[in-house]
Amino acid sequence: MKRLMTTLAAGAALLATPAAADELRDSLGEKMPALMELYKDLHANPELSFEEVRTAAKLAELMRDEGFEVTEQVGRTGVVSVMRNGDGPVVMLRADMDGLPVVEQTGLPFASTQTATPASGVTTGVMHACGHDTHMAAFIGAARLLAERKDEWSGTLVMILQPAEELGLGALAMLEDGLYTRFPEPDYAIAFHDAAQFPAGMIGYSPGYALANVDSVDITVPGIGGHGAYPHTTKDPIVLASAIVMKLQTLVSRESSPLDPAVITVGSFHAGAKHNIISDEAKLQLTVRSYSDESRKLLLDGIARIARGEAIAAGMPEDRMPTVTVEDPYTPSTYNSPDYTETVMAGFRERFGEDRVMQVPSVMGGEDFSQFLRNGDDEMKSLIFWVGGVPQDQYDAAQESGEGLPSLHSPFWAPDAEKVIATASEALAAETLRLMAK
Ligand SMILES: [Zn+2]
Ligand SMILES: [Zn+2]
Repeated sequence: MKRLMTTLAAGAALLATPAAADELRDSLGEKMPALMELYKDLHANPELSFEEVRTAAKLAELMRDEGFEVTEQVGRTGVVSVMRNGDGPVVMLRADMDGLPVVEQTGLPFASTQTATPASGVTTGVMHACGHDTHMAAFIGAARLLAERKDEWSGTLVMILQPAEELGLGALAMLEDGLYTRFPEPDYAIAFHDAAQFPAGMIGYSPGYALANVDSVDITVPGIGGHGAYPHTTKDPIVLASAIVMKLQTLVSRESSPLDPAVITVGSFHAGAKHNIISDEAKLQLTVRSYSDESRKLLLDGIARIARGEAIAAGMPEDRMPTVTVEDPYTPSTYNSPDYTETVMAGFRERFGEDRVMQVPSVMGGEDFSQFLRNGDDEMKSLIFWVGGVPQDQYDAAQESGEGLPSLHSPFWAPDAEKVIATASEALAAETLRLMAK
């Protein structure tokens, strides 16, 4: 894929702007200075998940200015903006608002110096390290383009600002607070995410599964503690938990289909306090990733079975079996309606040029944007696409040197925000206009 990207990136620079795109793009060009100011303000003032109070209030005001009916505090800090404009489909656009507990190290003149104290109790810097600030600025850009073209479309536009994407809880919070009952239920849901793997202004997409089911699993493994010099008088939970960790690897390698992606990572293993004491408990924390519901079930059932099976093999008594807890709610996999996705991308290819739009492999990361389709009716279509954010010169230099680039969530993630916002504003507005064309 690396080589392909270079070719695509080089090709994009040569490509002339398709004529059909001019009017919308020119109009956006006039709006870009204000959108960049907004972006810098959002970047300098990030807020943690479910604490997006300033952000929500500021953006709600901007949406009111465009003539939307705006409702705040939907799903705690979420904002729903509706524009009813005659008969036609209900199209929902979504941006997420939260920053991350990361100390920014980009050195940007508008870098965040904000701090907050998350649930962990440890005060930390806060940063828009996932690029949600670019999502919000592009969201406002699209709102402005669509509001001033009201005579070109017919239907209902629902634009939502979602809290707490990073916790995987914000979308569900909005749905549980009546997103689909208090407001028009969408026929289409569309969002984008900035991407740290390809050059700024490129559009990437994956038809079908785009992002994974994300499950957090805790396993508590009881033992029978005692003196480290007399193991025969104990049941060592570290040895038992180690056996569980090793055996879990066979779920992906031996039980899942090689054609159905799955991940089990044991990210945390805690037990014991001292060299010569055999602990009476070990604790494991896992992240489990899959696409289909069947694959998810196979993994979760397998984890429970292996934990119990290994404990039996170790001779643990029935009343000291491991306990396995799957966090609820989980983040379900994100599915891009395949035919709809291809239709949208055909339009994007025409608008942005063949070489700026590419199909990319799905990833095992998660996005709670998935909840909007999962909770919609059977006819609903949904799409999340990527907009590359890596500044072209940095991308080229990395290709040359073979060195890595900062990922999303990195304290060094500094996208070419202007290209992300311009590309995404235009893409969101253009697709909405296509769906609701008079
Ligand atoms: Zn993120
Ligand atoms: Zn994100």
